[in-house]
Amino acid sequence: MAISRILIANRGEIALRIHRAAHEMGIETIAVHSTADADAMHVRLADHAVCIGPPAARDSYLNTAAIISAAEIAHADAIHPGYGFLSENAQFAEIVEAHGITWIGPKPEHIRTMGDKIEAKRTAGALGLPLVPGSDGAVSDIAEARAIAEAAGYPVIIKAASGGGGRGMKVCNGPDELETLIAQAGSEAKAAFGDATVYIEKYLGNPRHIEFQVFGDGNGEAIHLGERDCSLQRRHQKVLEEAPSPVISPEERDRMGGIVAKAMADMGYRGAGTIEFLWENGEFYFIEMNTRLQVEHPVTEAITGMDLVREQIRIADGKPLSVRQEDIEFNGHAIECRINAEDPWTFAPSPGLVSSYHAAGGMNVRVDSGLYAGYKIPPYYDSMIAKLIVKGRTREGCIMRLKRALEEMVIGGVKTSIPLHQALMSEPDFIHGDYTIKWLEEWLAKRA
Ligand code: ADP
Repeated sequence: MAISRILIANRGEIALRIHRAAHEMGIETIAVHSTADADAMHVRLADHAVCIGPPAARDSYLNTAAIISAAEIAHADAIHPGYGFLSENAQFAEIVEAHGITWIGPKPEHIRTMGDKIEAKRTAGALGLPLVPGSDGAVSDIAEARAIAEAAGYPVIIKAASGGGGRGMKVCNGPDELETLIAQAGSEAKAAFGDATVYIEKYLGNPRHIEFQVFGDGNGEAIHLGERDCSLQRRHQKVLEEAPSPVISPEERDRMGGIVAKAMADMGYRGAGTIEFLWENGEFYFIEMNTRLQVEHPVTEAITGMDLVREQIRIADGKPLSVRQEDIEFNGHAIECRINAEDPWTFAPSPGLVSSYHAAGGMNVRVDSGLYAGYKIPPYYDSMIAKLIVKGRTREGCIMRLKRALEEMVIGGVKTSIPLHQALMSEPDFIHGDYTIKWLEEWLAKRA
């Protein structure tokens, strides 16, 4: 049943990333695009292109009927959803499979379970992963909520069961605010995700965000590819990621990696996944699992030498994992900078014409981007326009190389976050790896 033609149900750098892996495997690609993306690089490079609707994502990249029709018309035998958009939509995965098309992703039931954060925590707990203390399930009753918050200890965080992208969270500092904040979180969650269900967790004071990359074959075999440290965040959104984490020892990596890989094996997980933890005082606390490829996957590729998209495609094709746990080696250090089309200090979006473009190069420098001179960045989508990924033999060497590569990048005509990354590279705390999820916002506040 070998896959021979993949429809890429996404846009931007990740669409190009998937196209590249497919072509290196001798697989044809079909780009689907909105009218705003007709000139996108991945559309130009794909073997076939189908326009699926107007700019608004709900009419194009989220339009299941249009995407399935495109797959039928262009004879796709598989669909890769990338990240965002339909990638964690279990119903879409089921529809794809019902049409006899291979879904390059996890089993729909696992997408569904992990997509509901309450179910995800329950499942993770049952599989032996350490959890953030808090409610066992949804909270609706205020008296019960008070008891849970009291037991966990203030501050607590109220989270939307269907939340994502760092949205739908409220920190509550004491019992007086609890009722109001639960009501607010619920109505905001209802508006954003169509589901008012919320739950309560202890709010960790100053943790790091550390996540493990996992892969399963769907038949009870699973491996881990180590961790990524994604603690540099603004508004709960990642800005820069690195692997390995500056604070995780090889022994700790093996221990925790072994626990997550066993959990995935027990679950019969298929394909790529990420298990996210907060890490404080040497302890891991599960927060959620993402059942898709992550934006920051290239740092793992850099230190393991594995092509994660290729691995996803192989597994979807029914092949076994290409490596055994004991064969995986972690070499050197990698950092990814997310480059956004926005003002580096106010974060105001800056779409528009890219008047000039030059990508950094040289040894161990990778740029994943669909940019070119003359490209017009549309205003309708996420502002991330490029990822710069650099590898060094040591973390120190990696930072030196990253400084050098950031100097080389030219993106003319629009504002970008490159100056922010450059400023970070000379911050002692960053250089020493001494930062938590709070650090970036505090640093930005001090500069302002
Ligand atoms: P999303 O799916 O919206 O990304 P997550 O549950 O992954 O939500 O949380 C995103 C970020 O929010 C985390 O990386 C962390 O910065 C912060 N966060 C989430 N839960 C907690 C918590 N219990 N305590 C402190 N910070 C938290």
